[in-house]
Amino acid sequence: MKKNIIFLGAPGAGKGTFAALLVEKKALLHISTGDIFRREIKNGTELGKKAKNYVESGGLVPDEIVADMVAKRLSEPDCKEGFILDGFPRTLNQAELLKKTGVRIDAVISFDANDDLLIKRLTARIMCRQCNENYNKLFSPPAKEGICDKCGGELYQRKDDSLETANSRLALYHKETAPLIDFYKKGKILFSLNSAREKGEVMKDLLKLIE
Ligand SMILES: [Zn+2]
Repeated sequence: MKKNIIFLGAPGAGKGTFAALLVEKKALLHISTGDIFRREIKNGTELGKKAKNYVESGGLVPDEIVADMVAKRLSEPDCKEGFILDGFPRTLNQAELLKKTGVRIDAVISFDANDDLLIKRLTARIMCRQCNENYNKLFSPPAKEGICDKCGGELYQRKDDSLETANSRLALYHKETAPLIDFYKKGKILFSLNSAREKGEVMKDLLKLIE
């Protein structure tokens, strides 16, 4: 079985959903960079202190420090049975740095879907102005368009879920993260999954792929 796995995919491609489903079935840990940051900073480690300085001065933590933090986390005993790394690497430079740390990666799984579908998913969330109830235009729409089932309030879209934000997130993905697909293809550890299908279908292929 492939144990050390990186998930790649555009926002809206379902990485988080499938990571959660896979963790339920296999003894893998879901590792995100956000969790690593919080942990290192909380534990007051050398790397955590360095990262905190950058965060507090409003800057980005340099790739070298992030790569070291990730490599350190992945070498801890609880990652022995395998991990799903999600959210890192995001750029070619980060992928090269991760490779230099010597962490073994068995598979990079790319969740593929076309931009039209991704935009639909990313802009599907709407909320009630009055009671904050969440709706999803694709999966849990209100009975009456634009109106809250619970309180009759007006439904609106948050700026994070707007078409404008979705477009710029996808553009950034295509520019920075998509080149990783070629990088891992060359390393012969890339596997592509069509994630434009029903969840169960994608999951079936994902399980087959890592066995
Ligand atoms: Zn409401």
